[in-house]
Amino acid sequence: MKSNSRIQILRRRAAENQRWQCYYCQQPMWETDPKIFSARFRVTDRAALHFRCTAEHLEARCDGGRDTEENVVAACLYCNKNRHKRKRPKDAVSYGDLVRSRMEQGRWHPVALTHITAPTG
Ligand SMILES: [Zn+2]
Repeated sequence: MKSNSRIQILRRRAAENQRWQCYYCQQPMWETDPKIFSARFRVTDRAALHFRCTAEHLEARCDGGRDTEENVVAACLYCNKNRHKRKRPKDAVSYGDLVRSRMEQGRWHPVALTHITAPTG
């Protein structure tokens, strides 16, 4: 895998702006080590995979969306995969609404994270 490709740089920048919370579901994400994440949030390593930080194009690439700072946000793998699983992916705004309402009903992520106040720094 290429390191420091443009999309990786954009993803990391977006993730930092979002404080490593998913653009859609606001859950915390990890970048390199699922084990630290699973220990911190008390989930299995397998469950932690859903929360991997991925680059998400607000305007999908197939619709002409480009790799630019304005178009790339950081989303967890679960939200990213579910958006693009649809034949006709929803636009980012309506997909975000869907995720938020599902989250409120507890019907989105199959695992719930035990929220521990994150240490600062
Ligand atoms: Zn998410």
